[in-house]
Order: sequence, then structure tokens, then C-alpha cells
Amino acid sequence: MIELQNKRIKIFIIFLFSIFILLILMLIYRMLFVSNKLTTTMANQQLGVVKTVYPRGIFLDRNGIKITGNVKSVDNINYIDYIDPSVAKNIIGDVKIDNKDTTTNAVKGVSGLNKVYNDILSQSQYPFYIMGIRDARSNILSSGNAFIKSVSDPADTQITLTINSNLQSEAEKLLQKYVDEKGYKNIALVLSDVKTGEVLVLASKGSYLNSAVISYQPGSVFKIITAGCALEAGLIKLDSTFNCTGKVTLDGNEKTVCKNGGHGKITLPQAFAVSCNSTFYAINKMLNITDKNGNITGNMALNKMAELNIGTYNNPIKNSFILNYDYSYDFVTDKIYNQKGTFNAALGQGDIQLMPITVNKIISAIANNGIIKEPVLVKEINIMGLKQNIQQNEDQEKTIFSEKTCKDLQVLLRQVCVSGTASGAKTVNKYAAGKTGTAENVDNKSCHGWFTGYFPYDNPKYAMTVLVEEGKSSYNAVKIYNDMLDIILKYDKDIN
Ligand SMILES: [Zn+2]
Repeated sequence: MIELQNKRIKIFIIFLFSIFILLILMLIYRMLFVSNKLTTTMANQQLGVVKTVYPRGIFLDRNGIKITGNVKSVDNINYIDYIDPSVAKNIIGDVKIDNKDTTTNAVKGVSGLNKVYNDILSQSQYPFYIMGIRDARSNILSSGNAFIKSVSDPADTQITLTINSNLQSEAEKLLQKYVDEKGYKNIALVLSDVKTGEVLVLASKGSYLNSAVISYQPGSVFKIITAGCALEAGLIKLDSTFNCTGKVTLDGNEKTVCKNGGHGKITLPQAFAVSCNSTFYAINKMLNITDKNGNITGNMALNKMAELNIGTYNNPIKNSFILNYDYSYDFVTDKIYNQKGTFNAALGQGDIQLMPITVNKIISAIANNGIIKEPVLVKEINIMGLKQNIQQNEDQEKTIFSEKTCKDLQVLLRQVCVSGTASGAKTVNKYAAGKTGTAENVDNKSCHGWFTGYFPYDNPKYAMTVLVEEGKSSYNAVKIYNDMLDIILKYDKDIN
């Protein structure tokens, strides 16, 4: 038995030795006969830069999926791309690359989070070059991988966003499809977590600007504020009724505000659901504050905006939202002078402009029974292994309206999706509560379409807002909202 084993081992050793000898012979052959041939070929080739890589800290989504720092391929050479994001280009922002600069200043974040966090992202890293052999026609001959791993790997500096990159990617595809097919000028979509304010999707397609953080007239979306203020002040109740003749008189001029001779006798939930302009003009008149001569000196809905730090018209407050683009402002006039001004404010027209992210914050607070969560985009910053949690300042928590008012508003918002202006969209009808808005645009251009709401309506988890710039009708925003809601349901099985 032992003898047989020894024999097997001997055979195995001889076998290994033969392979070794064979390899040595092959190597000698290559050195003696092939190397001359290779050298000749090399003479006709040159070493060239395939790609200049600018190492930089990277962005991750909320689940740790890389948004920047992904492996890309140029001429079959794989490298890590620290600059171009896989999604959310207009959150990550742009960098400016100075090719002549060989210091850490070669790359500078000039917009978005690249600008906000440039100091963190650009620490102690120098550009480096991936070299390749090119033939006479400058085609790349060699191929392989060029990864960077040094003592201070730039990828060890990470900014973890609140964004869900899967949903962000789906939203970007969806918006692009609508831009391509319908020719909308711009579409913005904001999705956030109602309980935390964390922004899960901030998508914008149509122009290079991020329209989720540009202000637009909110149109009838503003009726949420008008109704909320009047409910809070006890001026109206859920069972209040109004009489809509379809016409109002503004500073002596008669104006048709609802079609087909008006809505007639209408309850508050019905008026909100069909967005009755005459009812909301009547409500906003109640919110005007007048002096003893009857002159309008203020308005409770506008005061509410000021209280919430949502910018006044003459002195717009730059939004504290982390992106901090130079163009990110809300505008809300602080005064109403006459009936026309009262009418316009009730309908979110005239001197009122809100960013989709602000509208989303408002609807989210109502879903959250009044508690305002400021939108956040960054979850954690990790600088070379040192973690910093980004936390909201809890003791600065504000409320938009009382819990009672929010519960009443939730009834009104649900009615919009059950029997009102958004009820035609199947998934919205089943799951959401929200408000449509069609906002007049300047210079007689097409109206902007809005839909803002939350879902599931009976246990709010998400707040979502869609704006379609020059989208003609709010229903076009509802359709996009409905499509995105279908997508979210596929990802979040808890909702069904
Ligand atoms: Zn009406």
C-alpha cells in the first residue's frame, strides 16, 4: 500500500518537473528568437497618454452605490472616473479642469456639490496619466487596467448622499422620455422621505439648469396655503359652502374665473378638488388684513410664507438647501394692494414664485401632520476614514400648521385624487393625496403644470412634486407623477 503511494508521488514529481523544463525552454526560445522581432515592431510605435485621470473624493448614494468613481473604459483600458457621475449630474455639478496645472488645483468644482465640497473632494491628489502603446495610426495596441491604489486613495474620501441612485436613474429616464416625446421645455421631479426630509430623487431634464431649484409660479398649488391659513384661523371649515357663479369682480372689472357658468353651490372639499378659483378668491379675501379705512395692509397667507422663511419678493431669501446654486431663490411678495392682487395671490400667480423643492417641503410638512423637515441631500461625509454625520438641527423644528389643520388639508388633498383634477390617473387615484396647479407664464407662453402630493395617502411615506415648465396643463404633470409612482411601487413593496 505504502509502496503504491510512493510510486504515485514519484510520477507526480516527474510530471511537475517536465512542465517546469518546458516553461524554461519556451522562455529561452522567446528571448533568443522573438525579442528582435518585437523590438522592430516597437520602433514603429510610440508611448502615448491614453487618459489623464484626476483623482478626487467620490460620491455614493444612500445605499453605498458609487455615483462617481466608477470604472470606465477607453480603448480597452479601464480606469476610475472621478469626474463624471453615473446619475444626478445636476446635483453633483460640474468641475473645471485645467490641463496645464499639475497640482491639486487642476480640478475645481464650479457648481453643485462639487463646488460646495470642493475642499474635501480635492485633498492631496495629483493628476496622473495612463500610458498606452500606440501604432503609427495612433490606435491603442495595449490593453489592461489602470487602477489607482495608493496610501491615501482618493476614494477613501466619500460623500454619501440621501439620493437613491436607482430611483434617480429611473426618474431621469422618465423625464427625458417626456422631454423628447412631448417637447416640454423643462421637467423637474423631487421625491423625499416625509419623516426625515431626505431627498431621494432630485431630477431635472430639458435644460442644463436644475429646474428643481428654480422658482416658478406655483398656480393653484398655492391654494394649499390659502386653505390652510383660513382653516387654521377658523374662517372656514371642511363643511363650509360657497357659491361659484364663474365670475368675480376685480377692482371694478368682471372676470370669468371658472368655466361653463361656474360651479354653483359647492362645498370646500369640492371646491378644492376642482380648484374653484372663485371660492379661493373669496377665501383669500378673508385672509386680507385691512386698516380702519378698509385699505389692505397685509395678508395671512403671505405672512405665513414670511414666517416659514420663504423669500419675500423684494428681498428673496437664498434657499438654505445645500445645493446653493446662485439662481436658487423663492419669491413671495409681502404685500397685496387690491382685489386683483388678492385674486392673484389666492391662485399662486403674480408676485409669487416657488421652487419645486420648496413646494415639496410644504406638501411633506402637511403629510407629516405639520412638522417641517428641511430637505437634506447629504447623509454622511467620510474623510480618509473619519466619519461625519450630517444631522438636522432637531430643536429648530418648525410646524407649518397645527395637526388639526393638517388633518383637514389631508382630507382636501385626498379628494383631488378621488374626484378632482388628478383623479383620472389610476395609481395617483389609488395611492396619493395632492394638488394640481396650472400657472400662468409671462409673455403669453404656455402655462406651467404642477402636481405635488404624498403617498400612501393614509400613511404618508413619500412626498413628490412634479413641475412641467410650459407643460400647458397640470394634468401633464399628473401623468408624469403617475408614471413615477408606478416605478416607486416596484421598488417599495411595503406600499402595496
Ligand atoms: Zn368655481
